[in-house]
Amino acid sequence: MAAPSGCCRRHIERAVRDKLPWVRRKLAEMASRPPAPRRLWADGEMLPYLGTSYPLCLVPDGGAPVRLRGGRFLMEPTVAADGRRHMIAWYVAHAGPLLARRVEHFGTTVGAPPASIEVKDLGRRWGTCHADGRIRFHWQIVLFPRPVVDYIVVHELAHLLELNHSRRFWGHVEAALPEYREHKAWLKQESGPFTL
Ligand SMILES: [Zn+2]
Repeated sequence: MAAPSGCCRRHIERAVRDKLPWVRRKLAEMASRPPAPRRLWADGEMLPYLGTSYPLCLVPDGGAPVRLRGGRFLMEPTVAADGRRHMIAWYVAHAGPLLARRVEHFGTTVGAPPASIEVKDLGRRWGTCHADGRIRFHWQIVLFPRPVVDYIVVHELAHLLELNHSRRFWGHVEAALPEYREHKAWLKQESGPFTL
């Protein structure tokens, strides 16, 4: 926000003072959010999938670069140096069918089947909805617990009915997921460690 030229000092001071509670709230929010974990791609490192953390185990068995088997993420030691990329490929591959099933499940309740769904890196957004009916999800959301994944699915499906965050929009979300506020709060406050 730039100060308009010719604006007197008192005006600027008042504008800053009015914004202070917002700034304080944002700073408190940032401080309360746990930092994302630092990944070393070493044995025993915990990696989340659907809200459960599984230990990473580097074992050569000539199979796929990453497998989830027997409660452990098995990774070929030869790909560990590029572990993040291989884990993301695993999450993307699993997110596609999983999200398609949840979209199908809620599509009848929320009442608007999407034209298509896509899984990709959406930066700081968990999902997006386009006016033409295309829905996109961030691969990262499959690290979260299932009920939170469902909330993100319902949120985007509800945008097919209302392309805004109006009272009507939240009404659609609540009709499908009466406890959605809990999941919304979790995303804001507790999703930090559930990142890669
Ligand atoms: Zn939204």
